[in-house]
Amino acid sequence: MKITDVTVTLFAWDGIPPTQYGRHTGRFAGVSDLGLVTIRTDQGLEGHAFLGASSRPASDDGGTLIRHLKPLLVGDDALDRERLVQRMWQRGRATTLRCIGAVDIALWDLAGKAAGMPIHRLIGTYRDSVPAYASSAVLPSPSAYAEEAQAFKARGWTAYKIHPPTRWEEDIKVCEAVRKAVGDDYRLMLDSTWAYQYPEALRVGRAIEDLGFYWYEDPLSEDDITSYVKLRQQLRVPILATEYTPGSLTAYAPWLTLQATDYLRGDVAVKGGLTACLKAAHLAEAFHMNYEVHHGGNSLNNVANLHLAMAIRNCEYFEVLLPDAAQKWGLVKDIEVDAQGLVHAIDKPGLGAEIDFELIRKKQIGVLS
Ligand SMILES: [Mg+2]
Repeated sequence: MKITDVTVTLFAWDGIPPTQYGRHTGRFAGVSDLGLVTIRTDQGLEGHAFLGASSRPASDDGGTLIRHLKPLLVGDDALDRERLVQRMWQRGRATTLRCIGAVDIALWDLAGKAAGMPIHRLIGTYRDSVPAYASSAVLPSPSAYAEEAQAFKARGWTAYKIHPPTRWEEDIKVCEAVRKAVGDDYRLMLDSTWAYQYPEALRVGRAIEDLGFYWYEDPLSEDDITSYVKLRQQLRVPILATEYTPGSLTAYAPWLTLQATDYLRGDVAVKGGLTACLKAAHLAEAFHMNYEVHHGGNSLNNVANLHLAMAIRNCEYFEVLLPDAAQKWGLVKDIEVDAQGLVHAIDKPGLGAEIDFELIRKKQIGVLS
């Protein structure tokens, strides 16, 4: 199944509400763009992926996919995925992990379609559903977080994660307010988005372990492994790091050998695709650790993440980042959480989600080819 063409169709994503997840995103609103990555083959099958996010337009790096990755793909067999992925990694400095990831996902989509199987089945299915957690944006007050957590609890969701204002004293107040609102037996996590230095991280960590939080995510800068080692020795609450550690599969090695984190983490966009995430999840399994899957930044990446979660044992939750209008775009029907707080496997070939080609046509900005 020879690859005959690779294109990126840029389309507008509008109506994005004012949103912030931390200092790393700033506050964004209005319009972004996504790229529909299409890999065409001589057998008429097409593989797809979405590039980009509401806070990071596909137009930022889609050009590097066409310029640097497309020549490595056209004319080769779409099912020789490992060889193509290894080849793309060699050009990592000229493009981005997001672009490599989008191509890798589109190759998996093609492989699933060629086999007539959903991707999770092609890998080897482990389960058919997984619990979701609601993952907040930065909200204006402790009571706003408390009300949102209560609302998701009332809908049947089984866990809630706080993205706090990233000012440590306020952050503790937010955690206290949410714990009080949802009661002692509800799952809560804190994601401090790399905001603290060690003393603040220790103070916040002590507070949330007293509040019975389930995990403490990214309290320190992603390049501060020595402080993570120290922090982990001081705290009882498990630490979840490595979401944005520079690099991908090979970057996990020091975190494992130095015992700097209790979980590994990643997603198909920031780690370079399903292939990279699968390898990392299996690496974590060898250390008896979970690989907790991060949200993917767009609807089709989240579908790829869902296939990943269905095909590994060592992931406990599926992240649903809020609000919907800043995370969901371009599918006819997006992933939904049921009344028990679960998301379910997609059982159509490839990614198996129905892309809204009509919307993409209406919102088209241009085609990179
Ligand atoms: Mg995070």
